[in-house]
Amino acid sequence: MKLYNTLTRTVEEFKPNEEGKVKLYTCGPTVYSYAHIGNIRNYIGHDILDKTLRYIGYEVTRCMNITDVGHLTSDSDSGEDKMLKAVRKEHKTAMEIAKFYTEAFFKDFNLVNNRMPEIVSPATDNIDEYIKIIQVLLDKGYAYESGGNVYFDTTKLDDYYVLTNHKEDEMVVGVREGVEEDSNKHNQNDFVLWFTTSKFENHELQWDSPFGKGYPGWHIECTGISIKYLGEYLDIHGGGVDNIFPHHTNEIAQSEGYLGHKWCHYWFHNEHLLDETGKMSKSAGAILTVSKLKEDGYDPLSYRFMCLNSHYRRQLVFSYDALKQNQDTLNKLKNRIKSIKKDNNYSEDDFNNYNKEFKEALENDLNTANALTILYNVLKADIGNDTKLKLIESFDKVLSLDLLKREEIDKELESKVKELIDERNKYKQEKNYEKADEVRKQIEDLGVQIKDTREGVEIIWDSI
Ligand code: AMP
Ligand code: ZN
Repeated sequence: MKLYNTLTRTVEEFKPNEEGKVKLYTCGPTVYSYAHIGNIRNYIGHDILDKTLRYIGYEVTRCMNITDVGHLTSDSDSGEDKMLKAVRKEHKTAMEIAKFYTEAFFKDFNLVNNRMPEIVSPATDNIDEYIKIIQVLLDKGYAYESGGNVYFDTTKLDDYYVLTNHKEDEMVVGVREGVEEDSNKHNQNDFVLWFTTSKFENHELQWDSPFGKGYPGWHIECTGISIKYLGEYLDIHGGGVDNIFPHHTNEIAQSEGYLGHKWCHYWFHNEHLLDETGKMSKSAGAILTVSKLKEDGYDPLSYRFMCLNSHYRRQLVFSYDALKQNQDTLNKLKNRIKSIKKDNNYSEDDFNNYNKEFKEALENDLNTANALTILYNVLKADIGNDTKLKLIESFDKVLSLDLLKREEIDKELESKVKELIDERNKYKQEKNYEKADEVRKQIEDLGVQIKDTREGVEIIWDSI
């Protein structure tokens, strides 16, 4: 499989550390507010990566954090904690805010058929891990204490900017507008590993530590959680492009400083979803969520479909017109699939040929648009219907667009019809033919015909 690696800035052949197994880490959401559809695009991109790896045969262990403490309003460590801001605004405790938005996040995450990672861990569950790592960084001279906080010293690394090819002064945290300078730092790019009460006196969430009572910085969460659950060698670490600097840059610095060896080989970054005014933002104004799209009558899967029609490394501009178009196209696609009737005509060779093409599209740096083209080719192909249905079922393991959902509805319908047949049989045994006819009518109202035969009741599904 070929995958673009931000670390080398090239599309590379992917090779995990251990043959056949992949350890995958995704930076999770910050739960002080709703996840907007841009955030969800990022998780759809990661879901495609996760499912593609599984589809081509890897055993994947995926971990994702939930940032429920220590995310700052700016990338600088001097901004205000976003969670605290929400606490003040919503008059709730930090944990109540985190719980509420974590649930809201997973609701939307699930609405677009994303698979749940094996491990999902809130930052507040792993404080001991961060303390352990910070202590080692202090012992090794990578970190220092200043003004009550513990900072990572970025000058201790040969190449702090491994992930970026930007000029050093452009990347300096603190030069951007609205970001005040933290005078405790020895160097501008140094970042906080541990805050103490000297920083935010009213911070609700605080833990005892050898460096004073306080709480962790944002970057250390992902290092701690990743190493705790996935071990010292990570295969792929991902997030949105805005995570490259400073978040992932700082994660590499801390993790490799702590471990004393290379940590992760492949860095996977999703481009942003933009609205018509520019980048979507959680902190600015009204938040457009997947749940809101659903409330407004859009199928969340048409949003997924829209994302799959573009490449994860391309910016995508959201508009309701584009979403509507995607919804219409997806509906047409599903209707075409619905019209494919089983014909007992299955060919293993045909299946393998098309499946190979589908895999090749995905193995080419997750080209989901081409994978969808292969799906259309299958629909047009001169092959048996049973082969087509098997291919569609198989492709949907990655696409997750509920392409054969009718089958599922049928299952629901089937159990309902069976229930009613049992009820009707009961009435017939009791010779209550009036009631039995009433139930027959209820079955017919579901669009299903039944026929009494010597062997029992035959259900005629085709009448739907
Ligand atoms: P946050 O909850 O702000 O930490 O964001 C969760 C994830 O969404 C991060 O990995 C971000 O990189 C990503 N993200 C933020 N904004 C966008 C956007 N407009 N489009 C796509 N992904 C985004
Ligand atoms: Zn992270």
